[in-house]
Amino acid sequence: MERPVRIGVAGIFHETNGFAPGTTDLHAFQAEWVEGEHAFAERYRHTRTCMGGVLEEAERLSVQLVPGLYTYAPPGGIIGAEDAETLLAGLAASLEPGLDGVVLILHGAMAAETYADMEAEALRRVRGKLGPETAVAVTLDLHANIGADMVARSDVLVVYDTYPHVDPFERGAEALRLLAAAIGGRIRPVSAWRHSRMLVAPQTMVTDREPMKRLIDRALELERLPGVLNVAVAGGFPYGDVPDAGMSFVVTTDHDPALAERLAEEMASLAWSLRDSFAFAQLRLEEAMLLPLPAHGPAIWVEGSDNVGAGAPGDATHVLRHLLGWHVRSLVVIRDAEAAALAGRIGAGNEIRCTVGGKTDTQHGEPVAIEGKIRLLHDGEFTHEGPFMTGRRIHMGLTAVIETGNVTVMVTERRVMPMDIGYLRCVGLQAERFQLIVVKSAVAWRSAFGDIAGQEVYLDTPGCCSANLLHFRYRRVRRPIYPLDMPGSGGTAAD
Ligand SMILES: [Zn+2]
Repeated sequence: MERPVRIGVAGIFHETNGFAPGTTDLHAFQAEWVEGEHAFAERYRHTRTCMGGVLEEAERLSVQLVPGLYTYAPPGGIIGAEDAETLLAGLAASLEPGLDGVVLILHGAMAAETYADMEAEALRRVRGKLGPETAVAVTLDLHANIGADMVARSDVLVVYDTYPHVDPFERGAEALRLLAAAIGGRIRPVSAWRHSRMLVAPQTMVTDREPMKRLIDRALELERLPGVLNVAVAGGFPYGDVPDAGMSFVVTTDHDPALAERLAEEMASLAWSLRDSFAFAQLRLEEAMLLPLPAHGPAIWVEGSDNVGAGAPGDATHVLRHLLGWHVRSLVVIRDAEAAALAGRIGAGNEIRCTVGGKTDTQHGEPVAIEGKIRLLHDGEFTHEGPFMTGRRIHMGLTAVIETGNVTVMVTERRVMPMDIGYLRCVGLQAERFQLIVVKSAVAWRSAFGDIAGQEVYLDTPGCCSANLLHFRYRRVRRPIYPLDMPGSGGTAAD
């Protein structure tokens, strides 16, 4: 009897924000550090994650899955040189020699002090370990900054088609399916890559809205053509100040390089023709406060500049400061380990007086003094119940719900991405009861509040994830690039 196909699965997942304060260290990767077959299955079976998709598809195809190391750190600052070495060496070492192929689950915007494109380096190490004959498939986040090396070092490259990301499961399954077909000799994947020469803010990458919808729809249309295996649209991550930052396209065909080149060119031209529609309008706080509140459902104030999901500290106080003393019943979540610990010592039901937020750097505001009642203390653990990575376990750390006037301040030990309603439900808060909810997010908040939001207000506040890209001083991104270098069509040069 023939031996079964053996496919490894491993990954290092980090979205690196080159403008965020501080570095991301190994400790941050303890947020998710899963090694070996048993731990992998235990953690990801029946979850709607990329890993869950790989697991299920492997079972369906009777492929033997051989998990190595998978680790994730929340988005944050650049990865230090030494820690990058440890991670890369750990990844390569965790893969058994002799595998027929490997699926690498990566983000695509990971950067270290030593590697502007850390995914490309990860691929080089894995190829070095397993040899040139081993087929490699890669899954990437829609916010990947894809460069030529990443494409050259992988056989199959699949990118999420959705933002908010609700399809990692399907993309994981797709990557494994294509890889297994390549190993079996049923397809011979070849890829072409094009960079759009555009930097785009995440807020305009929502895939069920124009202009991004147009790109995704076209990609899905092209995927139905004979000979086309995958058309990947990567919106890019504009806060990674790396040469390849920005929107790019990878088209994979079944042994038809000319077709791949032609379609990649078509996608890049289409994106370029849409460039001005990627501009994003925001309001200043003073303007937002003049808006009438919605009759039904809370107003969602989107503080994208402190987007935890893109590496911001989650402790910006610009908005909180304005809300205190206002007549509106509002909710703000602030990361402040110190204040959470203090609340923990004082105890639920008691009064607290402290400062919250503004403790990371100056661009995200000063600490704000609050005084109020500690309604509740919680260990901050919950499970995703909504459509985004359903089943995923989240650890917010010690969490205190403090009521001060009309404002409910939820203070968390760790940073929280407001992308699943479970983060409020676990502390007994009902979103519908607030007139206004502040979310430190660009778009992911929609999978938590999209159904109940009475109004969406996008705020132009300072911070390392501002949607106004002209605020930043880029040093390494390849120039010229839109909108930094195209005065008259959306912007002026930033430096
Ligand atoms: Zn993303």
